[in-house]
Amino acid sequence: MDFNLPEEITALRASFADFIDRSVRPLEDDIAVEFDSPAPDRDRIRQVMDEVRAMSVDAGFFAAHMPESVGGQDLSTLGMTVLVEDAARSGSRLAMTAVSPPNPAGPSSLLLKLPDHLLEQWVRPVVTGTKTACFALTEPEAGSDAQAIRTKAVKDGDGWRINGHKHYITNASHADFTVVFAVTDSEKRAAGGITAFLVPADQFRRGPTQWNISDTHPGELFFEDSWVPDDHVIGEVGLGFFAAMEFLNAGRAFIGAQALGLAEFSLDAALSHVQTRTAFGKPLAAFQGASFPLAQSKVEIEAMRWLVYHLAWAVDEGQNPMLDASIVKYYSTEQAYAVADRCLQVFGGMGLMKSGPIERVLRHLRMLRVVEGASEIQLLVISRALTAR
Ligand SMILES: Cc1cc2nc3c(=O)[nH]c(=O)nc-3n(C[C@H](O)[C@H](O)[C@H](O)COP(=O)(O)OP(=O)(O)OC[C@H]3O[C@@H](n4cnc5c(N)ncnc54)[C@H](O)[C@@H]3O)c2cc1C
Repeated sequence: MDFNLPEEITALRASFADFIDRSVRPLEDDIAVEFDSPAPDRDRIRQVMDEVRAMSVDAGFFAAHMPESVGGQDLSTLGMTVLVEDAARSGSRLAMTAVSPPNPAGPSSLLLKLPDHLLEQWVRPVVTGTKTACFALTEPEAGSDAQAIRTKAVKDGDGWRINGHKHYITNASHADFTVVFAVTDSEKRAAGGITAFLVPADQFRRGPTQWNISDTHPGELFFEDSWVPDDHVIGEVGLGFFAAMEFLNAGRAFIGAQALGLAEFSLDAALSHVQTRTAFGKPLAAFQGASFPLAQSKVEIEAMRWLVYHLAWAVDEGQNPMLDASIVKYYSTEQAYAVADRCLQVFGGMGLMKSGPIERVLRHLRMLRVVEGASEIQLLVISRALTAR
């Protein structure tokens, strides 16, 4: 066993830190007032995010985990995991835009199941940041129980006709295309009856934005006699549910890395605060009531780190580590939330202010405990794996 990160990943990490400091932070300073405003200029924020994405594509970071054949850098999952961690740890609200995962607007290996001519048309532009995507599985009547989706696709000529309604879809408002999951055999459902399709934006209607406690605002999508040709099936007809689960499992190292980075950022901020803020004539750090929760947080962060790195390593080894992926999703999002909550506490009132460092982190982590398989669903997967032995 070698617990050291490979040298090339350590070097990449250093150049990514430099990129954040030199290219991202100045833009962040320019736009900070918008982020903290009760009525932010969302167009301006999006414009700056697009700028960061374009700079990151040029610097070779954005979708580095994708194959070179579609414009990526063939970076390992471990390499990308560390970049996601560092983006989150930086505390920059724009830095997460500089790396495509775990955002479903960016490219994923799921799209590589498309035929070659569509890779050029749809996948390369997402890798190079000129187009964005979305991943449309959830419906009003089917969230955790995803195999219960009602969206249907029926064969029509040399293509498929799709009808249905999706909600809570990240980047629904701007995506150039969606990956949509539809029932193609209502008897088989998850066991061979759900298919994934690439649907261009001119074939669906967007519903209203769904504002929520996080800063990522999903939306609704309506498929009303949408039609796509046969070659827009992603992978094989009937195997879409497996593809969705594969996509979610592969992405869990990145969600874990994001949670880990946000927990590290919270602890970094809390540590400097308790050393400078005084109460009862002493720095807060002198009181065990303030320092012990931070020590506990450090322990949990180290446990999180090794679970996350191990999962990334297992994915790079070609394994499909479903159990490890669920353990990482569950532990990292739950513990990172607990860490951020403790760190918020040592900030007192400032912890609750939008202008303070932790408030937005806590809101984001609260969201991560629900999306892409809520914590209870991860426990369900873990308990099934245990009792099946
Ligand atoms: C900000 C945001 C972005 C999102 N982005 C996307 C996206 O891009 N694409 C997409 O397809 N979806 C997306 N989602 C949807 C998200 O994945 C679902 O909200 C999530 O899977 C939970 O489904 P649900 O909301 O229908 O809750 P429900 O399925 O109704 O579950 C409600 C509660 O019941 C619990 N529960 C359910 N079943 C069980 C069980 N068997 N045992 C114990 N507890 C159980 C759940 O854990 C949950 O806490 C997004 C959601 C949000 C909030």
